[in-house]
Amino acid sequence: MKTPAPRRPFIARAAAVVAVLVAVAATPEGFAQEPIGDPTPARLSDVAEKVARVSEKEIEATIRALAGFGTRHTMSETESRTRGIGAARRFIREKLEGVAAESEGRLRVETRAYVHEPDGRRISKPTEIVDVLAIVEGTDPDRVVVVSGHYDSIPKNVMDFESDAPGANDDASGTAVAMESARVLVDARPRATLLFAAVSGEEQSLLGSAFLAKSLKDANKSVVFMATADIVGGSVGSNGRREPNVLRCFSEGIPSGPKDARGRVLRTIEGSDNDAPSRQAARYFAARAPLYVPGFEVRLVFRQDRYLRGGDHRSFNDLGFAAFRLTEPNENYDRQHQDVVERDGRRFGDRPEDVDFSYVAKVARCVVAAAYEAAAAPASPKQVRVDVRALTPDTTLRWEANSEADLRGYAVLHRRTHEPTWTGRVEVPKDKTEVVLQGFSKDDWLFAVEAVDAAGRRSPPVYPTPQMR
Ligand SMILES: [Zn+2]
Repeated sequence: MKTPAPRRPFIARAAAVVAVLVAVAATPEGFAQEPIGDPTPARLSDVAEKVARVSEKEIEATIRALAGFGTRHTMSETESRTRGIGAARRFIREKLEGVAAESEGRLRVETRAYVHEPDGRRISKPTEIVDVLAIVEGTDPDRVVVVSGHYDSIPKNVMDFESDAPGANDDASGTAVAMESARVLVDARPRATLLFAAVSGEEQSLLGSAFLAKSLKDANKSVVFMATADIVGGSVGSNGRREPNVLRCFSEGIPSGPKDARGRVLRTIEGSDNDAPSRQAARYFAARAPLYVPGFEVRLVFRQDRYLRGGDHRSFNDLGFAAFRLTEPNENYDRQHQDVVERDGRRFGDRPEDVDFSYVAKVARCVVAAAYEAAAAPASPKQVRVDVRALTPDTTLRWEANSEADLRGYAVLHRRTHEPTWTGRVEVPKDKTEVVLQGFSKDDWLFAVEAVDAAGRRSPPVYPTPQMR
């Protein structure tokens, strides 16, 4: 995403009184109030090196293999070697184990499963829900970056576990993105753990992702963000359009969870309905994509998902985790959740012939860039607060010091309240945990604070909570 170039009027540097930056003198025209510092992230060589490893051929092979199992319906055959969801997940597991075998122990492959009993909804017989996970353990394993795709598929009837449902786009494409990300990040040596997931039961109400999200919650993990790639095949849309350099990124603005006993959302974001952790993560993702895939645009969609549809990010949102969904810009409804048939010269069904593998590879490159930088970066600053104890024309922000030895410092991102993405950035040295932005009224601007290491890797930024006393 291209952010507008910041205007640099006659100001030298941003303000700071108590702590950091030298105050800008008031001019006869008033305080300097324009954004200062370009918020565009730096293009980092180690990130670019990982991105360059993404292989379109690997992605194509994965999608064709998954589509070749006929159906991957969650309740389908599990014993056959050639058909059904059992064969599909053995393929995923074996392919990831092949990567792990050459990783000198850095990549661990796990399956986690439970039996889902008939629920009167979309599961009609006891069914094993199996998530296949590939894990690159970080040095700070309490924090986890999750990249996910769902490997189950459905034909037209959601309960039909026998008809063909190749699911090449929905969602062998996203599964291939998660698997390819695991392959290229196998030697990442991240701070936060990288968890790549192929989940099932998505079409039966997000079962596999709910199971995964709950297991992370129960283990007290902090999810940096979860990205689900779901329908990233780059097809020609039902509208006849094809945009091979655009990807949509859906994120919730108001947290959907967790909820109390009455179903009310417990977490609120004060002072903005556009700055929930998921929205910050979506901006973080979008800002990096064009640095590593030139000409590629991530189109931020400020809603949790499309109408009538859901996705695995919702399972994470519902437990209070930051999560967003990646989906092609123009969906083709003849090729989703359809039987493979031809009627009146019109082809239905989700087949690999209709997937643009080079597009899927671009999506994977964007995912690798953001997931790797987020996992390699310092932790996001904690206890970020905006001082609201007094009526002032300025803004004072405070946070807790990070503990990383190679911390370079912090940065405050800012934008006016009507702006969709950050328009300015002020750097703060590592020995400071407070900044006063003179001339930036907290009523007129939105802020977030990120941490930066010596290599220039930036954490996802944190929106401040009000400091009342
Ligand atoms: Zn899907």
